[in-house]
Amino acid sequence: MNIVVCVKQVPQEIRINKTKGTLIRDGIKGVINPCDKNAIELAVTLKEKHGGKITLVSMGPKDVENTLTHGLAMGADQAVLICDRVCAGADTLATAFALATVIKKLDDVQLVLCGKETADSGTQHVGPQVAHYLGIPQVTYVVNLLIEGSKIRAKRQLKDEYETVEAGLPALVTVVKGINEPRMPTYLDIYEASKKDTHKWCAEDLGLKEDEVGIQGSPTRITKVFAPEAKRECKMLRGSIEDISSSLANDLKSKGLV
Ligand SMILES: Cc1cc2nc3c(=O)[nH]c(=O)nc-3n(C[C@H](O)[C@H](O)[C@H](O)COP(=O)(O)OP(=O)(O)OC[C@H]3O[C@@H](n4cnc5c(N)ncnc54)[C@H](O)[C@@H]3O)c2cc1C
Repeated sequence: MNIVVCVKQVPQEIRINKTKGTLIRDGIKGVINPCDKNAIELAVTLKEKHGGKITLVSMGPKDVENTLTHGLAMGADQAVLICDRVCAGADTLATAFALATVIKKLDDVQLVLCGKETADSGTQHVGPQVAHYLGIPQVTYVVNLLIEGSKIRAKRQLKDEYETVEAGLPALVTVVKGINEPRMPTYLDIYEASKKDTHKWCAEDLGLKEDEVGIQGSPTRITKVFAPEAKRECKMLRGSIEDISSSLANDLKSKGLV
């Protein structure tokens, strides 16, 4: 079974440049998005059970190549990095379009695994958007996945309960962080990973036009990134229970909360 895992590099710590209203990336180590490590672990477990080949697919700057070696050391067979200045500043739609274009170029992909979300912007858009561009079924928030012949049986996490769904292959699945415990590669795994291929493709290699990717291909713009200020107000209510409850009710009414 040929499995693709979409892997995003995120900053090891999320820090915001308040003046520019952007995320600080310079000088902060890039790491594999936590949920994507769970997706890689799931892919390796499925390969151990069903055989096949695992390809990591990522879009980002050159240094992502180093970050992907961790995924190769966990057990993926090869990686593809879409690395091109015209892809910079992509929103989720342009990101998903580029990733789907790579996956279409790979042979006979049966299963695409994504993380539920990223640690830096976390829109949870990309997985479902990639499935849309590939025209395949998608199952999101997966906590357990079984392959049964030409279909998958997936347990999904809902708000207060779980549901089990089935879908025909090829399919796309997004996994939650708690689905498994990603393995820690050994030194030997890391050494072996250095021999595995990471193909670097640019937009031209993929036949992608400039107005389909990056800022030009993005219908949305991030105008400002900021951490909302936590405004806490403390008011002591004194007096009898009746006094306290009536002034509380008035307060809530005046704030339109009841
Ligand atoms: C603070 C901030 C806010 C943003 N807000 C928005 C927004 O509201 N709307 C918008 O369209 N864009 C937004 N962006 C841009 C967005 O981060 C990028 O488009 C990004 O590549 C994909 O979105 P995401 O990180 O939210 O992915 P999610 O949808 O949260 O990611 C889900 C999964 O998709 C896969 N994936 C995501 N990105 C990549 C990648 N580059 N390479 C390989 N696999 C990938 C991974 O498996 C990941 O676990 C924002 C960026 C930042 C930094």
